[in-house]
Amino acid sequence: MDTPVIGVLALQGDVREHLTALAAAGAAARPVRRPDELDELDGLVVPGGESTTMSKLAGLFGMLEPLRERIASGLPVFGTCAGMIMLADKILDPRSGQETFGGIEMIVRRNAFGRQNESFEAAVEIPDIPGGPVEGVFIRAPWVESVGAGVQVLAEHGGHIVAVRQGHLLATSFHPELTGDHRLHQYFTDMVRDAR
Ligand code: GLN
Repeated sequence: MDTPVIGVLALQGDVREHLTALAAAGAAARPVRRPDELDELDGLVVPGGESTTMSKLAGLFGMLEPLRERIASGLPVFGTCAGMIMLADKILDPRSGQETFGGIEMIVRRNAFGRQNESFEAAVEIPDIPGGPVEGVFIRAPWVESVGAGVQVLAEHGGHIVAVRQGHLLATSFHPELTGDHRLHQYFTDMVRDAR
């Protein structure tokens, strides 16, 4: 069986839930913190948490540049919530000094839904994922304000973009790792297999 090695960036955020979901999707999942650990990976998940903290820790752990290079050379990455923010080429309202890994040609607004509703759940229809809508758990969630020509919009909620893909990069505003439904992790694991 083809078992890709998929890391979960373990600087901050909900790492354990992603490890469980990835394992259920047939990947060999492991937490990663150090730049040299990136070499062994076929794919990476950047979890939800707090993007300002994650940005700071990525700098401290020397992960910003190595990860930017791996992303540029084709490492498949899946970012959820704060992880989506970390994959954005541009944040609309960054904290001062807040950096991202970038890679997806999109502008993301932090805490966008939070202004209306701190956290909520909603059924999100993703035409690329068969089997009916996924349960979207939104926690102080960002939305995608605009995307470049190379970005595929996978899903919207309430008129806002909440899931995108650009080639080997995938991002959702919500937390698919917090439900028992592993279809998005399965979708990403298949992306990783296809990229190998
Ligand atoms: N609002 C958080 C941020 O700016 C993201 C919240 C989350 O990941 N659940 O990073």
